Amino acid sequence: MTRTPQDTADLYARHQAVLPSWLSLYYERPIELTHGEGRYVWDAEGNRYLDFFGGILTTMTAHALPEVTKAVGDQAGRIIHTSTLYLSRPMVELAERIAALSGIPDARVFFTTSGTEANDAALLLATTHRRSNQILAMRNSYHGRSFSTVGITGNTSWSPTSLSPLQTLYVHGGVRSRGPYAELGDAAYIAACVADLEDMLQQTAGGVAALIAEPIQGVGGFTLPPDGLYAAFREVLARHGILWISDEVQTGWGRTGDHFWGWQAHAASGPPDLLTFAKGIGNGMSIGGVVARAEVMNSLTANSISTFGGSPVTMAAGLANLNYLLEHDLQGNARRVGGLLIERLRAVTAGLDAVREVRGRGLMIGVELVRPGTEERSPEAASLVVEAARERGLLIGKGGQGGASLRIAPPMTLTVAEAEEGAELLAEALRAAQETLAGA
Ligand code: PMP
Repeated sequence: MTRTPQDTADLYARHQAVLPSWLSLYYERPIELTHGEGRYVWDAEGNRYLDFFGGILTTMTAHALPEVTKAVGDQAGRIIHTSTLYLSRPMVELAERIAALSGIPDARVFFTTSGTEANDAALLLATTHRRSNQILAMRNSYHGRSFSTVGITGNTSWSPTSLSPLQTLYVHGGVRSRGPYAELGDAAYIAACVADLEDMLQQTAGGVAALIAEPIQGVGGFTLPPDGLYAAFREVLARHGILWISDEVQTGWGRTGDHFWGWQAHAASGPPDLLTFAKGIGNGMSIGGVVARAEVMNSLTANSISTFGGSPVTMAAGLANLNYLLEHDLQGNARRVGGLLIERLRAVTAGLDAVREVRGRGLMIGVELVRPGTEERSPEAASLVVEAARERGLLIGKGGQGGASLRIAPPMTLTVAEAEEGAELLAEALRAAQETLAGA
């Protein structure tokens, strides 16, 4: 049934009346998405959009991927859920596959239903293992919405409370652009961040439990640290016995093209002690989890179960999705098509004053916007572009420091033709937004 714009407006009014004020929606006229296919989605009014945000990277392969839909349907037709108190074949199988892919020796996997919970579990493990509630996190980071994970989120627009059960120390290195060391070359930048970390540790009484970091900050705007940064950090951490948690909620599963996991861009350091994942692995089904060396994972002695973590329907989706991803070399596709998209975006935005930078790796691409002719970050421009892109049938995300970056992370089956179509639509949206800003 096709809805009218008035129907959508009525739904929005009901949403506002019953849901929290801070559950913010994109767009002046929010969209009700009703179905999808491949890299496209449709709203209730029948409008089609090219999806360059994939539900914040949750639709990893494609919308309505038949293999995943069938796996979910078959499993749901047998049994939807029992409890993690009973043996589950899909859960054991997916855990075995993820343990083998993680690169972590003697790995154990614990499933949750979200990235937040995965990081929460990682914090529980690390603090218990190290008997310390001190955590190092990166400035401008994002790790989730629970009481503990907001306490390690170093981005003010996403940190609703300063109260936290953890003592968090924020270190440099997560975002380089315009930070105090922005002008340094890679090696000098890494040395400055390492010195900052050493200095912080020297001034901190008691042992720190862990450092948690996103290899490429997601909500933070898809900013790239220089390769090797975490290898350098790792050396310092190892000297202090501090664990390294790599939050791969956005960077996992080959999205960055060059690597299956984000930590591999820093490979000299070897794998992290703990790795957290979520989002894409379920292709939209809610799967999260933490991988850790047995020694760390098994440091919890009290029973711990998650009622829904590892639920059979989600595990069936994860297995089907993972098989598809590996069989179709979607990491290679992310590298090839993502590389091309970055080039195209650089080309089509070359003459636009509002665009400061197009950056990224694979299919994680950020576009930072400024007030035309200045270096001043422009969240207004970002909002205008996101609206203008929607009007042209393109869905993108925004975020980053000051809310001034566009975020592009399409499903990893993106074709070259779709990449070109999206780059053109985005260029049009940018031009329109720039004209509006110039006239303002
Ligand atoms: N870590 C990172 C890096 C994320 O980007 C997110 C979600 N944006 C989370 C954790 C939290 O995941 P979830 O929303 O599934 O709880």
